[in-house]
Amino acid sequence: MAAARIGVFGGTFDPPHVGHLVTAVNVRHDLHLDRLLLVVANEPWQKLGSRPITPAADRLAMVEAAVAGVAGLEACALEIERGGHSYTADTLAELAAANPGAELFLVLGADAATGLPTWERVDEVRACASLVIVDRPGEPPPVVPDGWDWTHVEVPRLEVSSTDLRDRVADGRPLDYLLPRDVVACVRERQLYRGST
Ligand code: ATP
Ligand code: MG
Repeated sequence: MAAARIGVFGGTFDPPHVGHLVTAVNVRHDLHLDRLLLVVANEPWQKLGSRPITPAADRLAMVEAAVAGVAGLEACALEIERGGHSYTADTLAELAAANPGAELFLVLGADAATGLPTWERVDEVRACASLVIVDRPGEPPPVVPDGWDWTHVEVPRLEVSSTDLRDRVADGRPLDYLLPRDVVACVRERQLYRGST
C-alpha cells in the first residue's frame, strides 16, 4: 500500500471561515492527499497577549461543524489534548509517530510562511514535512527561507480573515456565506465575539 499523504493545516480558527475551507479542499485535491487535518491550536503562543483567544473547546467545535460531511477533511484536537503552548514541531512529531511512513505536508498561507523563521524548533519542522504555500489576498508574496522543500498551490483567493469576522459579530454585520451555516449557528449558540474588537 502506498504511504499515506497527510496535510496538516494549523490555525487558531477563531473562527474557521471559507478562506480556510476553500484552501483545505483545494490543496487536498491538488496534492492527492488522503487526509487533510485542520489542527486547532491550543495556545497560539504568538498571539497570546494581543487579544483574547476564544476557548479551545469552542474553536474545535466550530472546526468540527465546518468539516462535518466533507470527504477527507478532519478536525484535529492533538494540540488541545497535548495542552500548553502549541508548537508545530511537536504536532508533526506526534503525527509521524502515529502514522509510520506517512508523508506530511504542512499547509500555510503566505503570511504564516513568511513568519516561519520565528517558529519554535523550525529545523525539526523542516525535517518532518514539506511545505505547501497558498497566496493570501492583501499579503505580500511569501518569503520562504532557504533550504525548505516547498510547493505553491493556486487556490481561489478569498479576502476573508477571522479578525474581520470577529469585528462583524461585534458590529452586528452579517456573517452569512463567509462561514458555513453550521459555524454561524455555533457562533450564535455559544454567544462568541459579542464584545470583540
Ligand atoms: P486572524 O485574523 O485571527 O489571524 P486568520 O483568518 O488569519 O485569523 P488563522 O487561524 O490565523 O486565520 O490562520 C490559519 C492559517 O490559515 C494560516 O496559515 C493563514 O495564513 C491561513 N489563512 C487564513 N485565512 C486565509 C485565506 N483567506 N486564504 C488563505 N489562507 C488563509
Ligand atoms: Mg492569522
